[in-house]
This record gives sequence, C-alpha cells and structure tokens, in this order.
Amino acid sequence: MKKKISVLGSTGSIGKQTLEVVRNHRDKFEIIAISANKSIDILLSQIDEFKPKYVAVYDEESFLKLKSILKDKNIEVFCGMEGLKIISSLDEIDVLVTAIVGMIGLLPTLEAIKNKKDIALANKETLVCAGELVMNEARKYGVNIFPVDSEHSAIFQALNGENNKEIEKIILTASGGPFRGKKKGELINVTKNEALKHPNWSMGQKISIDSSTLMNKGLEVIEARWLFDIPYSKIDVLVHPQSIIHSMIEFVDTSVIAQLGVPDMKLPIQYALTYPNRIDSNFEKLNLSKIKSLTFEEPDLDTFPCLKLAYETLKLGKTYSLVLNSSNEVLVEEFLKGNIKFYDIPKYIEKELEKHNGISNPTLDDILQIDFTTRNNIKEMIGG
Ligand code: NAD
Ligand code: MG
Repeated sequence: MKKKISVLGSTGSIGKQTLEVVRNHRDKFEIIAISANKSIDILLSQIDEFKPKYVAVYDEESFLKLKSILKDKNIEVFCGMEGLKIISSLDEIDVLVTAIVGMIGLLPTLEAIKNKKDIALANKETLVCAGELVMNEARKYGVNIFPVDSEHSAIFQALNGENNKEIEKIILTASGGPFRGKKKGELINVTKNEALKHPNWSMGQKISIDSSTLMNKGLEVIEARWLFDIPYSKIDVLVHPQSIIHSMIEFVDTSVIAQLGVPDMKLPIQYALTYPNRIDSNFEKLNLSKIKSLTFEEPDLDTFPCLKLAYETLKLGKTYSLVLNSSNEVLVEEFLKGNIKFYDIPKYIEKELEKHNGISNPTLDDILQIDFTTRNNIKEMIGG
C-alpha cells in the first residue's frame, strides 16, 4: 500500500525535497494534498506532476487566482487557515509533512494530531512555541512525530532500540553558519545577503538567517527537549563545520552513537516517511577518505547570543520559549526587509523576555494570545 501524504508548505525548500523523494519512489508514496502561502506558479507545476486531490493556499488573492485557473480541473482548492487545517486532517492521508515555516504551522499540526495523522515534522517552530501541548496531544491521540530536522533525525536514528533513560547527553552538531569564527565587532553591519550565504545547506530565508545568528541551533535545542523528552541540561551543542556528523548521543556507559551522511535533507525526509524501514536511494554517498578531516569546536556564545537566550528560556520554562520564537519571527522578517541590524535580533528578544510574565501549562488560547502580544510589542519597539 502506498503511503498517502499531505504536504504543508510544498513550495519551499523542504516541501520541494519531499516531492523529490516521492518522485523517486512513486510505488511507495502518493501525494494527496499540497499547500503554500502565495506561490501558485510552483503549485501549478506540482499539481501537474503529482495530481493531488486537494490544494490549500493561505493568501486569499492567490487562492482566488488559483481557483479560477483550476475551475475545470478535478481538484478541490481551499483557502486560509481553514484550508491548511482541512488538508492536514483529510481522511485519506496517513502522514502530514509539516514543511511550512513559522508558528503558523501550529494549528494545522494540532488538527492533524486530533485526527490521528502521523507527523513528519520539519516545522520546528511548532515545538518551540508549544512543545508541551503538542507532545501531550500526540501522546493522547497515539500519533507518531517523526523528526525531519537533520539533527533530530540523527538522534532518532541513534536512539533506535535504545532506552531514553540511558541517555547521558544529546550532542547537537552545528555548522556554525556563515559567520563562524567571526567576532561581534565584525558582524555589527552585516547585510542580509551575507547572512543568507550558508556554507553547507541551501534552505529557506528564515532558517538561513536563524543559522547565521545560531538561533536555529537554539530552536533545535528546544525542539530536542520536547521531541525526546529530555531536560535541557542534557543537551549540548558542538560546532562541526563539515556537517557530516548530524548529531550524536552519549549514553550512561560513555558509548557515543552518531549518525553520519553527506548534508542532504532528502535523507531525513525519506527516513521520516519510511520509518521503521529504510529504502534505497540515489543520494550522494559519504566518502570519508575524500573528506579526510572532521573538526569540532565550542560555540561562541558572546558572538552568537541567540543560542544563549534559547537555553535561558528553557531554564525559565513556562512560556518563555514561545516569546523567544514569536519575537524572533518578527525580527528575522524585519532584518530581511533591511529595517534592523544583525544584533538588534538578540537585543529586542532579550528586552521582550525581560518584560514577559511566563505562565505554566498554557492552553492553546494562552499561547495564541501571548504570540499576538509579543509580535505587537516587538513591532512597537522597532517602530519607536
Ligand atoms: P521555505 O521558506 O523554503 O518554505 C516555506 C513553505 O511554507 C513554503 O511552501 C511557503 O509557501 C509555506 N508558507 C509560508 N507561510 C505560509 C502561510 N502563511 N500559509 C501557508 N503556507 C505558508 O522554508 P524551508 O527552508 O523549507 O523551512 C520549512 C521548515 O522546515 C522551517 O520550520 C525550517 O526551520 C524547517 N527546516 C528546514 C530545513 C531546510 O533545509 N530548509 C532543514 C531543517 C528544518
Ligand atoms: Mg537542523
């Protein structure tokens, strides 16, 4: 039986690579639904190739355009948040790939979980802003969350057959991003284009900026805390510029298990879709004698304060990681528009965290309210 897939955010970097995995294994996978914010040209070519039964477009104007283009075709077109929720919880699907960027993925992911759909999770912001709630819901409905993020896929693979309780430490590797080795003074005036140039991965703009500030690694520490139900004090970050070791686990007996591979997101995407099995692939093979050396160094928390801030929010618990994430989403957008400087990102996040009165066991309404307030506060700070 083919695995039936819905893709939230099919037009982005992870979304396109998900479709590539499907293209290479048409006998194993079938695309039932796809979605995007505005990119209807890409959606049209994906519809042509994969013949999904459903498509959702968030942006209303783009939805109306696509709907009229597709009026004679046998495909249902949905709009807005309602549309994203519908394609995330369809009766026909087995798994939802959350390849959407930002906290906007939270509500559709919760809808999928309530309808007992497994999740292949790339959308880390969902776990950063509501990790406890999402994991509790997944447990309640018996839903599997398979990590797509390469570090978390590595941990998931290293954990195969092991006992969570025997983990001494999770070691998340980080490439260090485009500014590795630089000092604060050299980065004050970096431009958007410099920040977008990742040395090892080609990714969407938001995660590329997050990689340049090391916020991406901070978000991943929080993601790992919830995915693997492990205290933050047992999660370390190690800079490994070659991005060959995707992460590792040290066990209580000091044994370390790592997962290695050429940097290519298609592997973790495919594994999330085939777990517990592995299937053949045409991905580039790892040739260690060609790579010759793998190097490691400690992260520089003075130059990259966002990573430190992420750890601090885990220490504070409550709703602090949510505030970190919502602030960061707005600030990255403003940095991309050229409205703020590189170090304004951690500066404003820190200010907003200081103001926040965290609450324990937040409900979904609490989370949405805090997100709303945080975004407004940050916009006000930038404007004023
Ligand atoms: P991207 O910007 O390339 O793509 C984002 C996708 O989300 C697009 O299809 C876009 O249309 C859709 N989208 C954005 N806003 C939307 C909205 N309001 N409604 C509906 N759709 C919307 O991003 P990406 O690099 O593919 O990253 C996606 C997620 O995966 C992020 O959470 C990122 O952190 C995570 N991730 C990405 C990579 C990578 O290599 N790109 C690796 C690990 C994790
Ligand atoms: Mg990652």
